[in-house]
Amino acid sequence: MSGIHHVTAIAGNALRNFDFYTRSLGLRFVKKTVNFDDPGTYHFYYGDETGHPGTILTFFPWEGAVAGRGGVGQTQQTAFRVPARSLGYWTHRFIEKGIAHEALEKRFGEAVLPFTDPDGMSLALVGVPGAENEAGWSNGDVPGEHAIRGFHGVTLLLENAAKTSSILTDVFGFKETVREGSIIRLTADNAAGGIVDIYEAKGFLPGRQGAGSVHHVAFRAVDDADQAEMSRKLVETHGQHPTEQKDRNYFRSVYFREPGGILLEIATDIPGFAVDEPVESLGEHLKLPAFLEPHRNDIEGVLPPLERAA
Ligand code: ZN
Repeated sequence: MSGIHHVTAIAGNALRNFDFYTRSLGLRFVKKTVNFDDPGTYHFYYGDETGHPGTILTFFPWEGAVAGRGGVGQTQQTAFRVPARSLGYWTHRFIEKGIAHEALEKRFGEAVLPFTDPDGMSLALVGVPGAENEAGWSNGDVPGEHAIRGFHGVTLLLENAAKTSSILTDVFGFKETVREGSIIRLTADNAAGGIVDIYEAKGFLPGRQGAGSVHHVAFRAVDDADQAEMSRKLVETHGQHPTEQKDRNYFRSVYFREPGGILLEIATDIPGFAVDEPVESLGEHLKLPAFLEPHRNDIEGVLPPLERAA
C-alpha cells in the first residue's frame, strides 16, 4: 500500500471548522484530541467510517490564526474523490450553503470542482468514474451515494519538481504518469490518496503558512519496519534529515522537510483510530495520550466547547 496517509492543515475557529467538515462536507469526525506538541489546542481528524489512510484530513484550529498566503513551497490544493455523477449534487449544495466555489474545470481529463473552506483553504472535488462502487460514509447530511470517498490527491507548488519527484517515486512508491502544461502527475497504487500533482512554478512568490494552509502531507508506511526503510533511503539516497519516530497514538510518525520546502511525514497504517475508543463512537469524546491524561482537567478547561450555546 502506498499513497497519502493524511493531510494536516491550520484552521482558525474550531467550531466553524468542525461544522464545515462534518455537516457541509459530511466527513466523519474520527478523533477529537489535542496537538500532542501544544496540548492547549485541539487536533481534529476527519475521514471515512474508520479513518482509513488516504481519507484523513486533520486540523490544528488556532483561534485568531492569521490567514496564510499560497505560494511556492506549499501544498496548493487538496482534492477529494466523489462519484463523477455526484458533481451536480455538490454544485447545488455549495450554492445552497453559500460555500465559495469556482466553475467546473477539466484537469487530466477529469472534472474538478474547486472550492474553499471557511479559512480559505483551497480544496476541490474530483468526479471519479466508478467511485460510486466504493463505500461512502454518511451521517445523513450528505447521502451515502454522493459522499466523499477519501482524497483524490494534493497539488504541490514547487520551484523545481525534480528532487521532490525523485523522493516520491523512489521512497513512497509513486510513478510519474503524465504531464499537462507545468503540472506533473505522480500516482500510487491506491485509489484513495493515490495522486500527487507537482505544479512547477518558476519565479512565483513563496507562500506564508497560516489559517487555510496545509501544515504537512503524510505518506503511508505499512509498519515500523517499512517506515525505517523509507527513512534510511531518505538519508542515504536523498540526503534528507528525517526526525526520530514520534508516537502519535493512532500512527507513528517521522518528519522531514523535502527539498522544495514542504514538510512531509511518513505515517504508519497501524494502529489506527479504534485503538482508544470503539468505531461506533469515534470522535465523541476528547481522547488524550497517556502522558497528557493527568492534565485532562486543565486541558478541558482551555479548549473551546464544540457545542453551540442553547
Ligand atoms: Zn501528520
